[in-house]
Amino acid sequence: MNTVVRPVVLVLFAFAMLLQSAPVRAQIAANPFDSLKKGQVFHGFRTDGIYTDDSDKAIGGRFVHVRTGFVLDFIQIQSVPQAWFYANTFLVSDMGEPHTQEHLLITKGNKGRNISVRESMSLTQSNASTYQTFTDYPFNTAGGPEAFYTIFAEYVDVLLHPDYSEEDVRREVRNWGVSENPDKTLKLEEKGSVYNEMTSSMSQPDWRVFDTAGRLVFGEQHPLSMNAGGAPDGIRKMTPADIKRYTRRTITWRIWERSFRCRAR
Ligand SMILES: [Zn+2]
Repeated sequence: MNTVVRPVVLVLFAFAMLLQSAPVRAQIAANPFDSLKKGQVFHGFRTDGIYTDDSDKAIGGRFVHVRTGFVLDFIQIQSVPQAWFYANTFLVSDMGEPHTQEHLLITKGNKGRNISVRESMSLTQSNASTYQTFTDYPFNTAGGPEAFYTIFAEYVDVLLHPDYSEEDVRREVRNWGVSENPDKTLKLEEKGSVYNEMTSSMSQPDWRVFDTAGRLVFGEQHPLSMNAGGAPDGIRKMTPADIKRYTRRTITWRIWERSFRCRAR
């Protein structure tokens, strides 16, 4: 999974962004967004804004779930169905909690593994990246609306109710493995997806410069200077309890806003 180091903070929001292709018939039918009014409530979601294109045609809206504050941006564009979830994942240490969580949520446990299988069988492409202040999960599918809504529902479920185990955490973060030397003797070796990824990344000059620059600007132990992907020394200390604590204290789901030649009105 990608890890992009950039400025951070400390709460996990998830934003989902839903983009859906416009059927040809919609171009001659009444525009369903024309009747939207700010403040209207539909199925528990309050309309907070209306997105328009460069000819002022309404093409979507921002909807806020009244009970939870979850934000959904819905935009109709001529493309395949796609969504973009994201959550603010402010840093609390150099152990790489948000990056590890990114890996665990969508690849581990029965739910995480099921999404991977379903995506490959439904013409779906996805990605996940951890930045300095947020983690995102975009996906799109050429499998049509049915595949899209199935995957969308699975993402919502796995992001809110993951079922990965503590052993999944240990193996994804860092663990000890045995490998063979050229002379056939055996040796102990540090392993783990996150550990391997970040050991490789932090050996690159540009990553080390960025890491050092952040600490010089913001100081040590600052959300904007700590290592979003996890410093190798910090990753070694990570335990399942750290992930649980981080998730409990920092998750708040929201929905994302993104503009495609459109603006809120
Ligand atoms: Zn990764």
